[in-house]
Amino acid sequence: MIALRLHKSDAHLIRKVVIVRKIIIAGNWKLNKNIKEAVELVNDLKARCAGVTDVDIVVCPVFTALSKVAEALKGTNIGLGGQDLYWQDAGAFTGEVSAPLLKDAGCQYVIIGHSERRQFFGETNETVNNKIKAALAHGLIPIVCVGENLAERESGKTFAVVQDHVENSLKGFSAQETEKMIVAYEPVWAIGTGKTATPAQAQEVHSFIRKLLEKMHGQAVANAVRIQYGGSVKAENTRELLSQPDIDGALVGGASLKGDSFAGIVQGALAQ
Ligand code: PEP
Repeated sequence: MIALRLHKSDAHLIRKVVIVRKIIIAGNWKLNKNIKEAVELVNDLKARCAGVTDVDIVVCPVFTALSKVAEALKGTNIGLGGQDLYWQDAGAFTGEVSAPLLKDAGCQYVIIGHSERRQFFGETNETVNNKIKAALAHGLIPIVCVGENLAERESGKTFAVVQDHVENSLKGFSAQETEKMIVAYEPVWAIGTGKTATPAQAQEVHSFIRKLLEKMHGQAVANAVRIQYGGSVKAENTRELLSQPDIDGALVGGASLKGDSFAGIVQGALAQ
């Protein structure tokens, strides 16, 4: 069954146009798993997710495991992503990894602007913007993370923060380029805390992001861009979150580190 994402606001168009945004479930493994453990996990996932075609599945291991994981994933339905990149292709940039190197290692995706990078490594909208440019220039699909922290939510700044992240991180791209991106709404207070945003809380922000995209590039682009939710997603809450009209997938941290829990999320996505 193909997952169809229909917008209430498009009710007048629904008979003419069916909006299809394929659900995408991505696992962000963060700083976890050596090469052996990473390959074991994807071998487990390959078996658990065999035959799934209606949901895009992606894993994002540490850089050092990418090429071995790519080998293990060859010919399967599971995609590969990096967790970050630098915007220059090559040169005197000690410690960095570039878009061409991620491609060379077998990646199709890259996470950009994760809140942990914004929080601990000085990532800004400007660096995120440069990284998106580099990703697109080399044919990588950027998964661009946006979202407010707890203090910002509690002081009523959620929409202002998300607007700042979306408008400034995604500034200067054409409609065609923007269409290729994935946006991940990740309220920082829900990441790794076990506190999931309610489906209604998440939907409210997802719908806001889609309206921002519409303002920037028109309705066709807004309808095409997939917006993932991230923040303590697990098998038990996937279905309810993904039943929201503007939630098109999940970016998963903790629950992506085990085959059964990540595959459970994929199953939840198939069931919604
Ligand atoms: C994340 O780090 O992107 C994330 C959503 O983590 P968790 O699922 O553990 O909250």
